[in-house]
Amino acid sequence: MIRLKNYVQGQWVEGSGSFRSLYNPATEEVVAETSSEGLDFQGVLSYAREVGGPALRKMSFEERAGLLKAMSRALYARREELIEVARVNGGNTRKDAKFDIDGATATLAYYASLGRKLGDAKILWDGESDQLTQSARFHGRHAWLPLQGAAVHINAFNFPAWGTFEKAAATILAGMPVITKPATSSAWLTYEMVKILVEEEVLPEGVFQLIVGGTGDLLDHLGGQDVLAFTGSAATGAKLRGGKGPVSASTRINVEADSLNAAVLGPDLEFGSDTYFAAQRNIVTEITQKAGQKCTAIRRILVPESLVDSLQEALVAELDRVVVGDPRADGVTMGPLATASQLQDYRDGVALLSKEATVVYGSTEAVADKGYFAAPVLLCADNGGGEAVHSHEVFGPVATLIPYDGSAATAADLVARGGGSLACSVYSNDKAFLGELLPELLTHNGRVLVVDKKVSDTATGHGMVLPQLNHGGPGRAGGGAELGALRGLQFYMQRSAVQGNKALIERILS
Ligand code: NAP
Repeated sequence: MIRLKNYVQGQWVEGSGSFRSLYNPATEEVVAETSSEGLDFQGVLSYAREVGGPALRKMSFEERAGLLKAMSRALYARREELIEVARVNGGNTRKDAKFDIDGATATLAYYASLGRKLGDAKILWDGESDQLTQSARFHGRHAWLPLQGAAVHINAFNFPAWGTFEKAAATILAGMPVITKPATSSAWLTYEMVKILVEEEVLPEGVFQLIVGGTGDLLDHLGGQDVLAFTGSAATGAKLRGGKGPVSASTRINVEADSLNAAVLGPDLEFGSDTYFAAQRNIVTEITQKAGQKCTAIRRILVPESLVDSLQEALVAELDRVVVGDPRADGVTMGPLATASQLQDYRDGVALLSKEATVVYGSTEAVADKGYFAAPVLLCADNGGGEAVHSHEVFGPVATLIPYDGSAATAADLVARGGGSLACSVYSNDKAFLGELLPELLTHNGRVLVVDKKVSDTATGHGMVLPQLNHGGPGRAGGGAELGALRGLQFYMQRSAVQGNKALIERILS
């Protein structure tokens, strides 16, 4: 068993007091323990603000891009070790582990390539300048500059690699130092990744600190130049929004929360067509990848009444092929849920959904004597589904078929009942249907994947978060925004207007 340490104020520090156990979810063995008790959290913040921040702000975008590239390379070089940790502590299959870890290194590399293109600039101009009076010299223009505090990142348990480094990539390129806190249950992988970066001396001092455990009184000391980026449940997000920093010091907070993402099959879809198969493929992937523990996973499947029986039959046949078990065993295609409490939530959640929808495949009965294994479950709801189908996220391999009349208006209404989601996908070749539906979907979702026959074999999947595109959705999805290429930097920067002699200002700030 390994004891994790915090990396703070330039050194590895062991917590004190009571240690929390981290488990192998396939065997229930304790594999690590951790604590952050006793840390000087105010000192951690000061170190980021006074050591890491100034070091980054001295650098151009191109130089910061060099840091990201070096991070990506150092982590990729040790990929096999990291995959093993993800299997032991995260219950990930090799494929799932790669999805998380390669997602981290690819996002770092992507932001490195964006930074290189910005060259030796240190600020980002926002639009062109406007002449404000009759004088051709007196102009106004907007500029983005890095905030001078610390960026505190709090992440969910399901993506200990990608979640940590997709946030870090945009933050470091923007010019802010990071204090990252992974979810305790899966913190071992993040710890190993930070250890690599420290061993390889990839980053200047103070740019990256790691807390493995609770945040103590850290959040009470956040000020107006600090930011808090949170990913996790809507309940924790709401609590953090009401904290001292966001309420009293206007500390910026970005919340990436849960959502009831939908897939919509159009009224024109023919069973067995290319567009239909793209839908079926995506649905199966979203139910089973990472055992359904993905914030973007499809939870609601809107299917025209005429297609429901054939789709259900096809999905059942696919789910029947899933082999649930210890990800280190041969032939296993889906690992366990991450923790005992996730398993309990899955069982409670399916029980709740089954009060208003019929279980058409699977059950929540124990799969094995040991381990937090969960079988895939498919439900089917009548009459558009009740309250729970549209509001209760079961964070596991669970989705509900919702038959609808095939009209764009009904589909839009049903999707909107999710209260705002991260991602939605729609499968159709009917231009009139798509034309009516798409504006509605875009208003209620942070990202919409449209699949017609021309892109059915090349489209990225429903749940695949790409650094080029916005990640974050309105309403219950948290109202946040991450990634989206350079848009992702804006949360970590201040946009201000500057007025004066155009030539002088542009020379000073360039
Ligand atoms: P969670 O229980 O809300 O925890 C998320 C993070 O918040 C963990 O690091 C947790 O630390 C920390 N935390 C909890 N209470 C805190 C407090 N009072 N102060 C400071 N930190 C606190 O969520 P989870 O179970 O890890 O993740 C599952 C949920 O995340 C799902 O609902 C999923 O949909 C959502 N999610 C959303 C996205 C997205 O991008 N929108 C991505 C992934 C997951 P400890 O672990 O130490 O308690």
